[in-house]
Amino acid sequence: MLDGARVAEQIKREVAEGVARLLRARGRRPGLAAVRVGDDPASAVYVRNKVRTSEQLGLHSEHHALAADTTTEQLLALLADLNTRAEIDGILVQLPLPAQIDERRVLETVAPRKDVDGFHPLNVGLLASGRPAFVPCTPAGIYELLVREGIEIVGARACIVGRSQIVGRPMAQLLVNADATVTICHSRTRDLAAVTREADILIAAIGRPGLIRAAHVKPGATVIDVGMNKITDETQARELFGARADERIEVIRRRGYTLCGDVHPAEVEAVAGRLTPVPGGVGPLTVAMLMRNTLTAAEARRTE
Ligand code: NAP
Repeated sequence: MLDGARVAEQIKREVAEGVARLLRARGRRPGLAAVRVGDDPASAVYVRNKVRTSEQLGLHSEHHALAADTTTEQLLALLADLNTRAEIDGILVQLPLPAQIDERRVLETVAPRKDVDGFHPLNVGLLASGRPAFVPCTPAGIYELLVREGIEIVGARACIVGRSQIVGRPMAQLLVNADATVTICHSRTRDLAAVTREADILIAAIGRPGLIRAAHVKPGATVIDVGMNKITDETQARELFGARADERIEVIRRRGYTLCGDVHPAEVEAVAGRLTPVPGGVGPLTVAMLMRNTLTAAEARRTE
């Protein structure tokens, strides 16, 4: 198992040291503003987690929770204010936004130098041209994990299943920039297993529980499971978790659901060389990289 949680703790310790250094040198802490619109319970949990982590690491943090009927103009006004405020170095707008909000305008309004999620077109373009500024946190975390765990990237065949702006596309750019040979798959890919089986590094960012099975994986490959899917059905849990099904069914009975990735855990564990668990794999790395991006934004500021 690739221990994402352990690497995330390592990154957070480094960030905490960086925060303390910045405080000594410039008398200020990095500041992160988290903006959330509406009542989506998953988004509320994610944002709370990010704010709590930033407080633990000594950052200044703000949580702006806006009503579900907030207009695009109201959100843009808040962002314009955060863009100019000196104590804020990083701004994150939790996605998804309610349907009435123009997501594209919102992401384009965050100042590129404060765009710690890396979604502004300027940062997307810099990454695509091999000059990264801010890289989206989930792929950035996966890249850190691969490097710190000594997984060979140069010359390796990497396959990413999923082409979202948040995970698949930036992941492909990072790996291409690091000299891997990269293939991107999606829902229209023909004979998915034939393509994924070529990969030394296989990254699943799909949103379908257990879609990647033993037949999709080259024996010994490194498999990164980005998926976070809620399983509520005990029969499905038994099929997915094999020998560990009883533990997971216990979790379903206690909490109402258990988390499963896009990789079939019981099958792929037997074939893969390395595999990230769900939970405890990619999730903690995402939060750690948000903290690091915010520290980087603060360090990059020239004027106080
Ligand atoms: P997304 O925007 O819904 O994209 C899913 C991608 O998977 C799309 O490109 C889609 O293809 C492709 N796909 C769907 N069905 C497929 C199939 N049967 N075969 C091959 N490809 C298929 O999802 P996302 O935002 O990238 O998220 C993916 C997963 O990662 C979700 O479970 C999400 O919860 C999780 N996630 C986790 C973290 C974390 O921190 N751990 C962060 C972000 C996301 P098309 O483009 O053709 O539709």
